[in-house]
Amino acid sequence: MSETWKRRTRMVHSGTRRSQYNEVSEAIFLTQGFVYDTAEAAEERFIKAGPDEFIYARYGNPTVAMFEERIAALEGAEDAFATASGMAAVSGALTSCLRAGDHVVSARALFGSCLYVLEEVLTRFGVEVTFVDGTDLAQWQAAIRPDTRAVFFESIANPTLDVVDVAAVARIAHSAGALVIVDNVFATPVFSNAIEQGVDVVVYSATKHIDGQGRALGGVVLGTREFIRGTLEPYMKHTGGSMSPFTAWVMLKGLETIELRVRAQADAALAISQALQGHDALEQVIFPGHPSHPQHALAMRQMGNKGGTVIALDLKGGQEAAFRFLNALEIVVISNNLGDAKSIATHPATTTHQRLPADQKASLGITPGLVRLSVGLEDPDDLVADITRALACAS
Ligand SMILES: *Cc1c(COP(=O)(O)O)cnc(C)c1O
Repeated sequence: MSETWKRRTRMVHSGTRRSQYNEVSEAIFLTQGFVYDTAEAAEERFIKAGPDEFIYARYGNPTVAMFEERIAALEGAEDAFATASGMAAVSGALTSCLRAGDHVVSARALFGSCLYVLEEVLTRFGVEVTFVDGTDLAQWQAAIRPDTRAVFFESIANPTLDVVDVAAVARIAHSAGALVIVDNVFATPVFSNAIEQGVDVVVYSATKHIDGQGRALGGVVLGTREFIRGTLEPYMKHTGGSMSPFTAWVMLKGLETIELRVRAQADAALAISQALQGHDALEQVIFPGHPSHPQHALAMRQMGNKGGTVIALDLKGGQEAAFRFLNALEIVVISNNLGDAKSIATHPATTTHQRLPADQKASLGITPGLVRLSVGLEDPDDLVADITRALACAS
């Protein structure tokens, strides 16, 4: 029955398990473990646990299983494993399948912590990593070798909003037998079906649009049953990056409204990007949903004609102007989450990407004037008024 449900129905009902009380809202099973009727039953469960049999919260939990089933239904993935944070998902997806001597090709434009895992952690354990410009297919083609075990990229890069051609990179990687692992946070599970586009493993920070209300850290890895249960789960359950039942409940409730929230946020982001085009105080308005974006056509094709919920503004006058702008905002808050109901502005060069040397910031387009704007659920007219008033203070 649930296979024929449309997406919005699945987001409300998929994965629901009811206790003997038949509660309407999903129960939070806030327990680390489960009682076995006999010693023999305990032994049997450790040999092979059935789908409704649990052992220990690090291995799995009914509330966490509900979240995993619901997000898998949204993504069209065979299975999912929920993690303590987005970074537990990224590092788990990579580390669980790589070993010393493997070669990885990765896009260079990455969220700071993703870059740390690829540049500092994997290499320390003997994995060789080659970085490429994710938007340049010739660079992917040249970097991938017969011994390339995996490729990694953000489908839309943080914070510069470069769009990677997911299907084309997947084709190039698969021709060498490499596993395609994609961090799909900016594209969101609502707009992008990465698995349909050829990706093997999709990773989300659930902290972003899945919670969408800034309450909890979480993450999820999606893929084939073989990868999730055979490769990832043994690694995650023994290394400790599992999601807590309370977090899973927050994320389950987030999924009930994700489609409505994210569509409203994307529509507001488009309206704001249109209103700000050609503004005197701005060098550039970067938004994949606007025709001025260099990969606009690709973004539209890949994301169901939506540009996402994040805009990057490059202010004339560098860091000083950017700081004056940030300090003048009244509705939009200065913070570093994204996908939240509250609009959030971030100055990547001094916060999320502070660690990068100046030349690397420059080559990634993280200029001193760049402000990342995550568009929330406020009235778009109020947001345009707040932003344009703050821009006037900046210049
Ligand atoms: C936030 C983010 C992460 C990390 O997620 P956490 O939940 O903060 O650990 C990874 N990738 C991208 C693209 C992100 O925006």
